[in-house]
Amino acid sequence: VTSFKDRAVAVFGLGASGLATAEALRAGGAQPIIDDDSEARRAEAAARGFDVRSLREIDWSSAAALVLSPGVPLTHPAPHWSVGLARNAAVEVIGDIELFVRERRRVYPTSPFVAITGTNGKSTTTALIAHILKLAGRDVQLGGNIGTAILSLEPPRSGRVHVVECSSFQIDLAPSLDPSCGVLLNLTPDHLDRHGTMEAYAAIKERLVAGVQPGGTAVVGVDDNLCQAIADRLERAGTHVVRVSVRRPLADGLYLDGHEIVLAQGGARRFSVGLAGIGSLRGVHNAQNAAAAFAAATACGLAPEIASAALKSFPGLAHRMEEVGRSGNVLFINDSKATNADAAARALASFEDIYWIAGGKPKAGGITTLTGFFPRIAKAYLIGAAADEFAGTLGGRVAHVMAGTLDEAVARAAADAAAEGRPHPVVLLSPACASYDQFRDFEERGQQFAALVRALAAEAASSG
Ligand code: ADP
Repeated sequence: VTSFKDRAVAVFGLGASGLATAEALRAGGAQPIIDDDSEARRAEAAARGFDVRSLREIDWSSAAALVLSPGVPLTHPAPHWSVGLARNAAVEVIGDIELFVRERRRVYPTSPFVAITGTNGKSTTTALIAHILKLAGRDVQLGGNIGTAILSLEPPRSGRVHVVECSSFQIDLAPSLDPSCGVLLNLTPDHLDRHGTMEAYAAIKERLVAGVQPGGTAVVGVDDNLCQAIADRLERAGTHVVRVSVRRPLADGLYLDGHEIVLAQGGARRFSVGLAGIGSLRGVHNAQNAAAAFAAATACGLAPEIASAALKSFPGLAHRMEEVGRSGNVLFINDSKATNADAAARALASFEDIYWIAGGKPKAGGITTLTGFFPRIAKAYLIGAAADEFAGTLGGRVAHVMAGTLDEAVARAAADAAAEGRPHPVVLLSPACASYDQFRDFEERGQQFAALVRALAAEAASSG
């Protein structure tokens, strides 16, 4: 990226995106100055030949910008100390997506750029859009909050499309974000520890779709009040909006009718996409993702027939409602990515005789919003720090055991599911919690679950 050629740029936070930022700045002729709380990461940056220094000691008057990693707080509860130093010196504070956006404007402003956000379903929808566009023969660059850091992707050029997942933290650091197609899936409480209020969180997410370029498209899921209001505001401002609902028919937009996504225009059905039997897109929440992805793909110029056919071959993402085994008629589903109650609600809504493994590092509100799904739960197996709290909420309404660890939970749930003879037993890991109390991250939690399920299957096979 060349926007800071010959200028000093402070970079704080050296995760994958921080390193990609530093490399991109250096390649573009800027002089990045790097800092991180971790000695190991500072050493790694120094080994790559970067200027590593405490940002407390640099000359801020000569710095052109502070580039923050998305993991470093910009706002709530208090801005990171480096933000204070930058602001005092009137230095702008941005993130890697902002750098990409500026570079794109410079090198190829009309290149297709799809940006996706929402509380839940971002990664699935992003991967699905990329899958559809790839099958249609496009040169797709997929990254951002999923997989590759945005500045490690190939740069914009003719025939290339960037499909980028954006977290609220990344949007907060990208004031010029201007996708050609912006997707906002849904807004429910999450990350309020970082953003303070729901209003603040929603306002940040709104910026992604409000920034859509003239002539572009905003795809908005309208099943919650906040997103509904955002869609109305966008339309009043003259943005082309495609609405998506999985709760009610729409006269214009995409809605779910049974197992079909219907494209309606002026009250008439124009096209439909059948979802029945697509295992990777199980559940109503995935219909929302599929409809939004279909809308984005057609906004990128694909014919509905092509987008629909490509969508049907989506292999799905690991740790999201992923089928990891079957033993007799017991299905094992890894939904480790469900780190909040709303995500777990989608999984609970998708099955009937559920042997539910839940718990971990609790989030505010716990599982109090899930009571409507309790009748579907045959038994709950509680793990991690949230176990006591969850047991309190389940109370006398749902049978539950304090399993403690994932190993114990899988063993007991599998045994109960096999023994109780219900018609559609599912052992479901959908924890409604972060994983950090017992695991490195949700991926490690999901991998362990899958490994335990494989071990059970092997044991069953060897015992005949
Ligand atoms: P994100 O990237 O936003 O965290 P993912 O696609 O990784 O979203 O899905 C995370 C979890 O959220 C999944 O395990 C699933 O249970 C749930 N989920 C997926 N899509 C939706 C949706 N559209 N609405 C609500 N929950 C969803």
